[in-house]
Amino acid sequence: MAEFDVDLFVIGGGSGGVRAARIAAGHGARVMIAEEYRMGGTCVIRGCVPKKLFVLGSHVHQEIEDAAGFGWTIPTSTFDWPTLIANKDKEIARLEAAYTANVEKSGAEVLKTRAVLKDAHTVRLADGKTVRARTILIATGGAPNHGPVIPGIEHVISSNEAFHLPELPKRIVIQGGGYIALEFACIFAGYGSDVTVIYRGDNILRGFDDDVRSHVRTEMEKAGITILTGCTVTRVDKHGKDFTSHLSSGSSLASDQVMFAIGRHPNVANLGLETAGVAINPHNGGIAVDAWSRSSVANIYAIGDVTHRFNLTPVAIREGHAFADTVFGKRPVQVDHASIPTAVFSQPEVGTVGLTEAQARAQFSHVDIYKTTFRPIKATMSGRDTRVLMKLVVDGVSDRVLGCHIVGDAAAETIQAVAIAVKMKATKADFDATIALHPTAAEELVTMRTPTARHVREAAAE
Ligand code: FAD
Ligand code: NDP
Repeated sequence: MAEFDVDLFVIGGGSGGVRAARIAAGHGARVMIAEEYRMGGTCVIRGCVPKKLFVLGSHVHQEIEDAAGFGWTIPTSTFDWPTLIANKDKEIARLEAAYTANVEKSGAEVLKTRAVLKDAHTVRLADGKTVRARTILIATGGAPNHGPVIPGIEHVISSNEAFHLPELPKRIVIQGGGYIALEFACIFAGYGSDVTVIYRGDNILRGFDDDVRSHVRTEMEKAGITILTGCTVTRVDKHGKDFTSHLSSGSSLASDQVMFAIGRHPNVANLGLETAGVAINPHNGGIAVDAWSRSSVANIYAIGDVTHRFNLTPVAIREGHAFADTVFGKRPVQVDHASIPTAVFSQPEVGTVGLTEAQARAQFSHVDIYKTTFRPIKATMSGRDTRVLMKLVVDGVSDRVLGCHIVGDAAAETIQAVAIAVKMKATKADFDATIALHPTAAEELVTMRTPTARHVREAAAE
């Protein structure tokens, strides 16, 4: 009898696990992959993809409003939430089937079950059966945090439930000031909900460039979203179909739904990690891994959100691919986590890559800032009160562009292309040498000639 049933057992059929399984199978490995919920994982089933579909639909109302300035008279429009949900569900089911089919086509075997570690080489399935694997990959992703237990927490929904609400809430309270809270605030507002965001700090999007943070907040407020900062939800009461959120500031808010989007935790509980000897990273609660995504146990690896490094789909995919090439493809490769572009699909969108102004000023002695805000050309006809922000953060010594930050329509699309230049260590002179593409908003990135600020750090006294 062979010592192992398979060369690789992947726990978790999300973005990272699926990529790793397919690539490893392509390298000739015997692969099994277990998924306890739905193949495709968070991104496909209840993350990026359904979120983007919601975002696209939520823009339509604004498009209709903007049309008047261009001469269009559009009869009163109506919106049907159940149609949106049904069509979204249909597309997600199609993608789920495609994910399963693609994994099977690669030669890997898909098991629709929960799997946990029994020991360093054995995986136990929900029916009690065990599989012996030479290598095990943990790609179990993450799940929404609920925060400290407050009275009425059972009435609060997360993004998981937001994708399946039976009706559009007329009023919704959303706690959190990060990606999910702001994306859903703009989604619900776009479909017509009255939205209040509750954030504990002084301004939303902590960790992003300060100009981005204030610009997004102003634009969201102009769109009618209420943003209350410096407070938290301390209790939620339910009266019939209505909810009252009590805030630490002493005030309270009535709504039809209360949603928390206050971060996500890695799925490490009850996985058998202790039994197998897999260590947890004490700094972030994810599985501790080295630069090869190898855990504290030599034959067990972990990738994606369960390692709580950069919780983004393309990162999980890249880590899964690198793992499979390294372990099964004789092509050792480490993932370079520097300059990962990211977007917040708020309205307007945020697109960002590289260092914020504050990070650059902490790391470099001379930092030049090129910043502009302007009215996009469409707004001149539609009459919409909105502005775009473009900002470049440049090393004043080497002239290298350290960061680029955009708030405005298509910021995500634009930043994907700019990220190539930033990754290649392009200089401001390279940006300047690039001929503008007119008329676009992005042309501002290659036409900002004079720094709007220059920061020189005094040399520290000996
Ligand atoms: P996951 O995709 O979470 O997959 C893990 C899988 O493992 C799950 O399917 C789970 O059911 C399964 N599993 C867990 N435990 C077990 C077990 N014991 N046995 C079997 N199966 C198990 N990222 C972006 O880059 N862009 C976006 O626009 C974006 N939008 C998002 C919107 C929302 C609302 C959310 C929640 C996330 C979003 N993300 C986005 C983040 C992105 O979804 C994750 O970073 C990505 O899915 C991580 O992939 P993963 O493979 O690590 O884990
Ligand atoms: P984020 O980390 O982006 O934001 C969490 C927010 O909740 C922060 O504003 C944080 O405040 C606040 N918070 C944390 N704990 C508490 C608490 N106990 N009480 C009140 N507020 C609290 O997490 P999200 O849940 O929005 O998203 C999870 C991750 O998923 C993201 O970090 C990202 O990696 C990924 N994602 C990516 C998307 C994209 O690429 N477009 C979209 C959606 C998700 P503070 O800042 O003060 O800590």
